[in-house]
Amino acid sequence: MRWNPVLRTGIAVAAFGLVATACGEQESIGDGGGDQAPAPSVEQDAQFEPGTTMAELNEAGTITIGTKFDQPLFGLRTLEGELTGFDTEIARIIAGGLGIAPEDIDWVEAPSAQRESLIERDEVDLVVATYTINDERAERVSFAGPYYQAGQTLMVRSDNQEITGPDDLRGSDAKVCSATGSTPSENIREYIDEDQLVLFDTYSQCRDSLDNGQVDVVTTDNVILLGFISESDGAFKLVGEQFTEEPYGVGITKGDVAFCEFINEQLRQAAESGAYDAAWEATAGPVAEEVPELPGLDPCS
Ligand code: GLU
Repeated sequence: MRWNPVLRTGIAVAAFGLVATACGEQESIGDGGGDQAPAPSVEQDAQFEPGTTMAELNEAGTITIGTKFDQPLFGLRTLEGELTGFDTEIARIIAGGLGIAPEDIDWVEAPSAQRESLIERDEVDLVVATYTINDERAERVSFAGPYYQAGQTLMVRSDNQEITGPDDLRGSDAKVCSATGSTPSENIREYIDEDQLVLFDTYSQCRDSLDNGQVDVVTTDNVILLGFISESDGAFKLVGEQFTEEPYGVGITKGDVAFCEFINEQLRQAAESGAYDAAWEATAGPVAEEVPELPGLDPCS
């Protein structure tokens, strides 16, 4: 576990500026797995045009954000109920720009297949959840970003010598697990027969099935798999090259161009201020290593 309650207390204290030495304390207690995510700056006197989503959220002082709860490195809920990961840090940065402090965020689990409906039904204000931007989804929701570019790959048990990439799945009887409603579950159909595909709501269910031998392969984005591998004690490995491009966007209500532009501006500023790099280093960085560049942002529509 990356963040323990002691560290979180340190952050909360630092955020309110009550104890000036809290930062030093965080470093000395660290678990050795990367830096602690700095508390995002919270815009105290943000002004927004009345009637905009930004004005509404700022006025409410809270925001509801959909994310993954079971994906180490990007979105993981700890036993203490804290959310950790690059996605959650990106979400905290956006909330900060709206004048909303991290403790005023309501987190909602957003499994792959439910992201569009959560947004359409207004059950969340935005989704930051390893969420690939694509045309089909863009018919139902709008995307800010992308803020990261991942790519699909495969994870197998470490003793598996047969499967070294998706081409090895053709004509094999390997069972391949992915999440319902995800892009990887669709992309992999090019390589396997329908009866080889095993679908669950979440990737942690796939991870457990790989562990107990029910499936032979888990397929999704590289960074999600790396998160599971980092916690597997050597039981799993990544195989093959990335065979798709998965640009991660922030999902919002379809057509909310002003909100999309606001989020893009927050991403730009985070890249400029170093908050984006710090968020990476404190979460995925120690496992996925290189700090990514913020990708070129898509125009909002
Ligand atoms: N990025 C892919 C997607 O949005 C896979 C990860 C996920 O399911 O969250 O479908």
